[in-house]
Amino acid sequence: MNKQQVEQLVNEFPLLQNLISLKPLSWFNPNITDYVTALPYVGLTDKDVQDASERLQRFAPFFCRTFPDTRATNGIIESPLQAIPAMQAALAERYECELPGQMMIKLDALLPISGSIKARGGIHEVLQHAEKLALAAGLLSFDDDYSKLDSDEFRAFFGKYKIAVGSTGNLGLSIGIMSATLGFKVSVHMSSDARQWKKDKLRSHGVNVVEYEFDYSIAVERGREEALKDPFCHFVDDENSTSLFLGYAVAGERLKQQFIDQGILVDAEHPLFVYLPCGVGGGPGGVAFGLKQTFGDNVHCIFAEPTQSPCMLLGVHTGLHDKISVQDLGIDNITAADGLAVGRASGFVGRAMERLLDGYITIKDDEMYKLLGMMYKTEQLKLEPSALAGVPGIVHVLANDAYLDRMQLKSKLANATHLVWATGGGMVPTDEMNKYLERAELVGLS
Ligand SMILES: *Cc1c(COP(=O)(O)O)cnc(C)c1O
Repeated sequence: MNKQQVEQLVNEFPLLQNLISLKPLSWFNPNITDYVTALPYVGLTDKDVQDASERLQRFAPFFCRTFPDTRATNGIIESPLQAIPAMQAALAERYECELPGQMMIKLDALLPISGSIKARGGIHEVLQHAEKLALAAGLLSFDDDYSKLDSDEFRAFFGKYKIAVGSTGNLGLSIGIMSATLGFKVSVHMSSDARQWKKDKLRSHGVNVVEYEFDYSIAVERGREEALKDPFCHFVDDENSTSLFLGYAVAGERLKQQFIDQGILVDAEHPLFVYLPCGVGGGPGGVAFGLKQTFGDNVHCIFAEPTQSPCMLLGVHTGLHDKISVQDLGIDNITAADGLAVGRASGFVGRAMERLLDGYITIKDDEMYKLLGMMYKTEQLKLEPSALAGVPGIVHVLANDAYLDRMQLKSKLANATHLVWATGGGMVPTDEMNKYLERAELVGLS
């Protein structure tokens, strides 16, 4: 995009001026529709999510054997849900406002295997690929006990195939660890901002880590090019993969059961707001799809992005989706929030989900750190910066009369649940976590 085109765009969409000035802001999409109207645009159905869910169930005996921390949930990879009353009180004080309703947290940081939301989509895609290969070779049938995949025979079989992915870090961890466990040869193409400990961890699992001096998009492109040359190589396409998306979507039915178990109502009189940190969009998009499918119009999904990387807000707001990047506006895409440093959103997710998302917020890096420190002090939860991005969402929602009126939510706020999706942090080494907490102290003093 040239300078003149950018100027025109800013004229047409004044909100972009605020994005460019890096102000934390919210935008509530006036074009959202009800679930039934929006569903055809997604291009996927209940049945697709059901398939993914059943696949994860088939692999449960395999996980029980290979990842002991999944045994407590019988081989199902799922994260805890809990209320955060102390954090809610601290937030009300920090933002000097009342926060009616109940704040809760979904602790994807504690997901087994890779300690982030990527343990949903990333792992599902590797399993789907492995299952397809083994079925086609006549080595496996749907009724088998899948724990048999944990054998030298299967590892030798999968060892003939390769898996490749481009990643800022957490997706690489999920794909890398899962693929290596099954026996695949796996390459993770990583951007320059990826953390050293993630590269080290992957190499310790025998993963081939390829490093680039450039950002995430370039790492993905190079990974894609290399994989395309090799018919035995499957490329995990973070921007366009429906397998990833469906793996994330299974979260919807799982969350429903957790609410039932904890006696928490979600219905027309008890709305659920969910705040999802967004990078390229697949994780939050897939989870939001699963939530919409499960809770229909009673769930309200809000995406959260760093002020330096508001790619999904930009794509949906302008309708340009993946035809525009934050760099086109002169925004630098440099953020401490691993996984959210994405300049160009997935066109697939933006187009599929734009009618189903209530809104978008942005947050500064310093605020994520501050909230990281608060979350540790009030709830003793250790998260990575990205996982805090959605926390101020509740404040934006409650402050926006126009949105609450339009959606007829005002009278229901005392009954509402506000769920922060805490997307990662479980694998962060102790010394790295201590650095995060030190930084939280520093920004708290400024
Ligand atoms: C990847 C990631 C996200 C966002 O997921 P996308 O699919 O890139 O939108 C959010 N938080 C963490 C910790 C992540 O690793």
